[in-house]
Amino acid sequence: MSDQVTQDFRFAPWWWEAAPPPESRTDAPSGAYDHVVIGSGFTGVSAALHLARGGRSVALLDSERLGAGASRRNAGFIGRVMKKSFGEIADAKDEAYARKTYEELHTAYEGIFDLAAHEKIACHATRCGRFIGATAPGHRAYIDADLARLKAALGHDFETLRPERQREAIGSDHYHGGVVIRDSGSIHPGLLHQGLLDRAIEAGVAAFGETRVTELHEEAERVRVVTPKGEITAREVVLATNGYTQHPGWYKRRLVPFRAFMATTEPLDPALLDALIPHGRTIIDSNTNIDFFRRAPDAPRLIFGGATAEKLADEAAIAARMRRIMLKVFPQLSDIRLSHVWDGYCAGTFDMKPHVGRRGRLHYALGYNFAGVALGCRFGKRIADRILGEELAPSVFDGSGFPTMPLYTGHPWFIGAAMRYFAWRDAGLAKRWEKAAQRQARSAA
Ligand SMILES: Cc1cc2nc3c(=O)[nH]c(=O)nc-3n(C[C@H](O)[C@H](O)[C@H](O)COP(=O)(O)OP(=O)(O)OC[C@H]3O[C@@H](n4cnc5c(N)ncnc54)[C@H](O)[C@@H]3O)c2cc1C
Repeated sequence: MSDQVTQDFRFAPWWWEAAPPPESRTDAPSGAYDHVVIGSGFTGVSAALHLARGGRSVALLDSERLGAGASRRNAGFIGRVMKKSFGEIADAKDEAYARKTYEELHTAYEGIFDLAAHEKIACHATRCGRFIGATAPGHRAYIDADLARLKAALGHDFETLRPERQREAIGSDHYHGGVVIRDSGSIHPGLLHQGLLDRAIEAGVAAFGETRVTELHEEAERVRVVTPKGEITAREVVLATNGYTQHPGWYKRRLVPFRAFMATTEPLDPALLDALIPHGRTIIDSNTNIDFFRRAPDAPRLIFGGATAEKLADEAAIAARMRRIMLKVFPQLSDIRLSHVWDGYCAGTFDMKPHVGRRGRLHYALGYNFAGVALGCRFGKRIADRILGEELAPSVFDGSGFPTMPLYTGHPWFIGAAMRYFAWRDAGLAKRWEKAAQRQARSAA
């Protein structure tokens, strides 16, 4: 691996250079709090911050260093995104429901800019735009049709680029054209999370890293929260463990943990980086299991990822796989080495949508299906507002109907088959839409 990675290579997220998860305090949690929040990512830290500002005493617990979960490991893409497209939701349910879903995604997306501005968190929040590269001509036709429906319903604009214009969006011929969504953004996830954690601690949250919750006991008036360091009690608990959920079983049985991988290159010539990603947009492809690229916001480097759910044994295997992804799209980077590679867990759900709700004294927000930066911040606040007795408008993501599968216990033995199914479905979609586009072209001629 020595020729593929830099001398100062780290098996750690690039984001930790600017925002390393802080060292954990050494005292043990004890006593009684109004609320215990389990999991210190965007969901947990946002719930803890708003509860503390509402005058409640809050303990925030994480089994790793604070923020060391997916929240400081992700790509930092923000947008109105869900694994299910507007059209899929409209066809499966109805257009009004699809509209409500995408309105909420839009509110969550806008919420990140408001949050960063209001909390004065310098986290490179920018409306950089997004390019979706079509992996087949049929995919371009499909995305174009789906986004046209979204535009008709909610006015969200986009531009389709045919292959001959692709180089306006990306320094690569890998795709079959694609789509540009101008109102889409990115952040530095490490800095956003660090800012929120700082605000939470300033607001009085007692935040304990490296403190795993091993047992939860709901008793008459309170919940007893057990950790190897000590026990605490709370009136209510917030479960914000997403892809790292181990228990309780009811939740684990509803979540499918996916391991995802990312990498950062050594510094690039800024002119080369400009040629690779001309407008500084985020880039994803049109597959269900995406590859994705962006510029680092704080250095002339390329950050990218993919290979979700693959079984990669160690950091050398991850680095080699990440380089293959990079060279597939940008073969001109054959001499470029990687300085960082890392992994992280996100959580899928059986209906491919996140869920926020309450069972007994436990509040939860889980199952972001790879898009939890904006929704995690929103749902954490939503849980806090609900606990504080605020009047809330209903959400399409509210609690009921959080599905599981018969016999599923939280160990996704089927994940390889699921990824093959997604690839097969993507190929079918490509064929269907290519034929439809050809028919349309013939009848227009
Ligand atoms: C590689 C990768 C790229 C991604 N890219 C994007 C992106 O570009 N845009 C986007 O919107 N989303 C992205 N996501 C998804 C996004 O990062 C997550 O949805 C989001 O961070 C979830 O936040 P969270 O607070 O719910 O969970 P996390 O940040 O994962 O935090 C959960 C925490 O719970 C802790 N925990 C678990 N069990 C216990 C326990 N028993 N006791 C105490 N603590 C416990 C864990 O240690 C962990 O820190 C990506 C995810 C990955 C992995």
